[in-house]
Amino acid sequence: APDTPHRAATLLDEDELHRQLHEHSGPDRPLPPELFVELFEKRVSGAPDDLAAAHRGESWTYGELNARANRVAHALLAAGLRTEDPVAVSMERELDWIAAMLGVFKAGGAYLPVRPDFPADRIGTQLGRAGCSFALSKTGSDASVSEAVRTGDRPCALLRMEEIEAAGHPSTDPRVELAPDGLAYIYFTSGSTGEPKGAMCEHAGMLNHLFMKLDDIELEPGDVVTQTASQCFDISLWQVASPLLVGGSTRIIDTERQLDVASFVAELAEGGVQAIQVVPAYLDVMVSHLTQHPVDLADLRTVSVTGEALKLELVRRWFALYPGIRLVNAYGATEVSDDTMHEVLSEVPVRDFVSVGRSLRNVHTYVLDRDLRLAPLGAPGEIAFSGVAVGRGYINDPERTAAAFVEDPYRPGTRMYRTGDFGRWLPEGRIEFLGRRDEQVKIRGFRIEIGDIENKLLRMPGVREAAVVIEGAEGRDRNLVAFYNGADTLRGEEISAFLGTLLPDYMVPTYFHRLDPLPLTENGKVNKKMLTRLAGTL
Ligand code: ADP
Repeated sequence: APDTPHRAATLLDEDELHRQLHEHSGPDRPLPPELFVELFEKRVSGAPDDLAAAHRGESWTYGELNARANRVAHALLAAGLRTEDPVAVSMERELDWIAAMLGVFKAGGAYLPVRPDFPADRIGTQLGRAGCSFALSKTGSDASVSEAVRTGDRPCALLRMEEIEAAGHPSTDPRVELAPDGLAYIYFTSGSTGEPKGAMCEHAGMLNHLFMKLDDIELEPGDVVTQTASQCFDISLWQVASPLLVGGSTRIIDTERQLDVASFVAELAEGGVQAIQVVPAYLDVMVSHLTQHPVDLADLRTVSVTGEALKLELVRRWFALYPGIRLVNAYGATEVSDDTMHEVLSEVPVRDFVSVGRSLRNVHTYVLDRDLRLAPLGAPGEIAFSGVAVGRGYINDPERTAAAFVEDPYRPGTRMYRTGDFGRWLPEGRIEFLGRRDEQVKIRGFRIEIGDIENKLLRMPGVREAAVVIEGAEGRDRNLVAFYNGADTLRGEEISAFLGTLLPDYMVPTYFHRLDPLPLTENGKVNKKMLTRLAGTL
């Protein structure tokens, strides 16, 4: 029974235990008997001429996309692919990439995207780690993957999209039987040790996530989602696949166009786009641009923001410009099939920070102490998830899998994923995000969470972005150094005094530097390594 008292339960009274184990879970939404592939194929037979995907003025209907994906699937099956075999896909973000992705799913393979511009060495490491025997590419996107295949330890068949199209494979649905707990995809994330980890997710978890995005954006037939995320980010999966479940379509935006924010905004202003998803740093750039050059964003209904903490300041600036376009703070991790909690905002929240919201459908959320005991409501702890969204772990990496994926003590027989994120329950089943476990540091003997300091720094009026790093060698006298992006009238003393009202003295940074913009990693997160180096030189 789900109520089986764990030794942890003794810390909480009955009422609180019940609340934490049940009321804080996302709504129960049984999944349909079909998985993504079958649901997509149903859409194809219902409306084959509807628009499915567009890129640079070229567009494919559901029927066309399905036929191409089917030929890919048949080619993989003919090459000997068996269910759950990983298939590396090295492709630019273009229409063929979508056909390749769906083709892998249809053939029962595990989709493993790599980026054509990654060095061969990095692709080789990932293929090797995954034990990959199949790769899909296209002339022009195949240089690194070809080299990785050639120099790898095991044979790997490289199929090119042109060859597949020319080979005359059937266009009919291959109808490979897929299991809900079958392996659907593998995304490599950079591990904190520098060695990439291949997070594996299953078909049911993937479908659950595709549906939860639809809950948020209320997509209807004919609606459009922009495809902006890198192929190597799980975000790109829902941007492509969620619309295909409801008769909507995805529109690929080239990276160059996104980098030119004026151009991206112009595209939105032309109309026809209902939903976008960006990282906070990009939203910040968009908002700055839109403040200078206000435009009507036409059909846009939902702006989903993910990957890093969303600051109240940015939310305020957004609603000052677009009170009618809701913001979703989407929180989750690759290991749990992407988002697991959302805060949907139609206006500036009353709290002085933005929560990551409530648990999503079929997700159970816990806040735990280091012995996996439930933390009392309001007390900080590690955020963990259980339920269908939880992936299988890291491919061929039992050690790091065991560290993060454990049996759920509250729902025996199921997996639980420990995020390494800290948070605490707010009333009404929301969570306040408090930063990363792995940024826990010690200064003069005091234990400090960097994220905690940054969260408070972001509450300082005028501060838009903030990052705190440690200056000095471990074991020596070290200092906290704060970098922020915000009003140039702010002075270090003022910020320090403000923080002194929210934090113990030892958590208030010694130095404050204004930096506009903060440097980002390729995934759009603040580049802490670079800031740490910089702190040592200032
Ligand atoms: P995603 O694909 O959602 O960006 P990643 O696997 O790349 O997920 O990173 C997951 C981590 O990113 C989380 O554990 C958390 O530390 C951080 N993160 C993701 N979304 C948010 C958010 N909305 N607010 C704060 N942190 C977030």
